[in-house]
Amino acid sequence: MQTIKTVLGRFLVVVAVLLACAPGMVCGQGFVVKDSKPIGQILVPEKASETITFAGQELAGHIKAMTGADMAVIADPGGALPEGSIRLALAADAVKELPLDGSEEHFVLDQAGKGVLIEGRSDIAVLYGAYEYLSGLGVRWFIPGDIGTHIPKRPDLPLDGTRKSIKPAMRIRQIWLNGNPDWHLNAKTPETLAPLMLEEVKWRLRNRLQVTAKKPRKGPPSAFPMNLTTTHDAFSHNIRNVITWTHTTLEKSPDRYPLVIRPDGKRERTDKGQICFTNQENIDQGIAWALDYFQKNPDQITASFSLQDTAGICQCDACFKANGSQDTTQDCNPLVWGYMNKVAAGIKAKRPDRGIAFYSSYGALTGPPTGLKTQGYIMGVVCHISGNNRDMNDTTDPFTRRMLVDINSLKNAGAQVCAREYTTFPPSPQPFQLATNVIEYHKLGLLGSSTEIMVKSEQHIMVNWVEAQLLWNPGQDPRKLFEEYCNTYFGAAGPDVLAAVDAIEASSRRVPRITLSGFGTAQEMMTEDVIDLCKKRFAQAAPKVTGVESQRLARMSDTIAFYSLLAQAYRSLYLAMDDRTPENQAAALAKLDDAQAFWEKNNLARCCSPFLPSGWIARVKRSTQAMGPVTAVPRKELVGADAQAKLKELFALTTAPESPEKVENLTWLPDLWKFKPDIYNKGKDQGWMAPGFDDSKWVSLAYNFFDNQGFLRVEGTFWYRTAFDAPVLPAGKRMIMRFGALDDDGIIYVNGKVAHTRDHVEARDWERSFEFDITDLVKAGGKNTVAVCGRNDYGKGGLWRPVAVYTK
Ligand SMILES: [Zn+2]
Repeated sequence: MQTIKTVLGRFLVVVAVLLACAPGMVCGQGFVVKDSKPIGQILVPEKASETITFAGQELAGHIKAMTGADMAVIADPGGALPEGSIRLALAADAVKELPLDGSEEHFVLDQAGKGVLIEGRSDIAVLYGAYEYLSGLGVRWFIPGDIGTHIPKRPDLPLDGTRKSIKPAMRIRQIWLNGNPDWHLNAKTPETLAPLMLEEVKWRLRNRLQVTAKKPRKGPPSAFPMNLTTTHDAFSHNIRNVITWTHTTLEKSPDRYPLVIRPDGKRERTDKGQICFTNQENIDQGIAWALDYFQKNPDQITASFSLQDTAGICQCDACFKANGSQDTTQDCNPLVWGYMNKVAAGIKAKRPDRGIAFYSSYGALTGPPTGLKTQGYIMGVVCHISGNNRDMNDTTDPFTRRMLVDINSLKNAGAQVCAREYTTFPPSPQPFQLATNVIEYHKLGLLGSSTEIMVKSEQHIMVNWVEAQLLWNPGQDPRKLFEEYCNTYFGAAGPDVLAAVDAIEASSRRVPRITLSGFGTAQEMMTEDVIDLCKKRFAQAAPKVTGVESQRLARMSDTIAFYSLLAQAYRSLYLAMDDRTPENQAAALAKLDDAQAFWEKNNLARCCSPFLPSGWIARVKRSTQAMGPVTAVPRKELVGADAQAKLKELFALTTAPESPEKVENLTWLPDLWKFKPDIYNKGKDQGWMAPGFDDSKWVSLAYNFFDNQGFLRVEGTFWYRTAFDAPVLPAGKRMIMRFGALDDDGIIYVNGKVAHTRDHVEARDWERSFEFDITDLVKAGGKNTVAVCGRNDYGKGGLWRPVAVYTK
């Protein structure tokens, strides 16, 4: 937490202007509740909106639970605030149209008079004001539902004499469950799901996150007592709306669809992929669609223009030209930003208070071209998928560096920036950076963050809770928030829980990186040391608590125990993959069954996403069962391929030389490499890169994903080794080594020395070729050893394209 302290040292956020009671004035000495008796009432406006009515109910309910006092919620008769009353009101300067700057969330919380005045610039601001008041009284909403709500018991609610003017520091504060709610909530029927959904929505509102909640028109019990949209920006893959909105088709308007060039050279318009970005109709319809969208959705500030989740960038002549005459499938930034700028300018002419948002770093899209200036309101959304165990101010991390480049190029272009985050997907604990990076985002001027909850667990939600507090006010100390969470939620067991989660956190920082994360990364985090420590601390903690704190502790303890079992099961699978004995394969399957049984016995669906075991355990089990013998299987495209085809592979995603003869001293490395997964990350220490290292027991694999050769689901570290005869080096020339691809990335050693570090930072780096100079390491004209210490995050991986050396 050293780095966090450093950040706070030079960083101060002012979200609250504190106006103390003037000297000599008698103020703030009254009570709202005294000796568990209400002094006044809760006043809501005569014709209160559903949101303000709800705010009144929330206040009454929490005050009752806190003090035992029944405060009546009544229509505000107006006039001076009666003693001990709480008035909920819209401010005189309440917003009419949703502003760009988020000021509709601004409220005043005034306890300097005879009662409490909560006055907001919008309905939602009044509700946030009510929560701010309760929060000031010590109420905390750690997890959804009664079990996660902490309400201190007290007979009196005195006025604190302050007047605070509060505006959230971040305009965008989204933390949301992905997919269907029943992936995450423990309900089998719509009737049991609805109340859980309601608690989920309330948790987000109470922590002052933004929500979209709708009253169902019919069917199951109401999921929410009001219609509420406080999320004003969506980033979905929407670009095709520009075409579909006009109900046209590929047949009717082919020129509006992208033209793609097939591998055989055939040029055709396709209804897959994106749009033709230079087609004037698409520009006009983009503007018209957005203006219509804002008309129909007055609660939206930006319309999403994110590209489709596929390729299909237009390669027509006009688009090629608009792209600065460079291949649009390689880099389409000038083309796409040109289009976005025209649309944003068109919107600005009619609605200067509205704009567009899109994923600015996605596939072939990597950010605004140098020199581009936005001509309207454009929000670029930067996705934080990789390196999630590193701080945003840790510039030693390549993923952080890459994200900072994205953010700065957007800012230089005059665009707004929002972060897009994910919780870890497989069953693994959530690193704290998801929460603490919010501070850095605020410092960098981002509008906020949108986090997709891939899975929910008792450990994840702790991190999400801290994240929510920082999104509201990034000036808080995250360490204090984690401590508060543990000590308030778990009571006397808090220090033990904190020690356990801290041990996991420290371990996650030692993992080279965590992306959305594969199962393999999860087992690297949950080492045997960490598992032992967690067991010890949870065993110590159990006798210290009773009642609800005991239930809370059991939820966390069971969650961590489940992660531990899965990590051990995955390690068994790795061992089985390594030695291929039926005993180890059976042991891995037995461990997976243990994890499943533990889940069921302890009803872990009560606190973790129910799809966890059905999704991940089943998947890993299938891989374990399908584990056959190791066989070197060359990629079928490369079987019998001529040198020309191999050359194309060697220069994948770049321009290949005309023919192999044009490459000086082209020398292919062998088709087969020695391979070994490195489950405990011990290869580096044991010198697996050394020329003399004995790899005779390693298996041989061909250029192909290792998943296709008997190594399904190797996630984490793996090694390849081979030897090659280098060409003689002509005088004045350099020796170059070139990889057709390495999925995902890794360190390459030549004769035992680091020759190159390959970082997968761009979306397509897993399939992109790269080269580096080995002149100083290679024995020209002699025998050489090359070793690769690779990393695979998820999906297939390995060396799957040819490798060669040449001179130049
Ligand atoms: Zn085009």
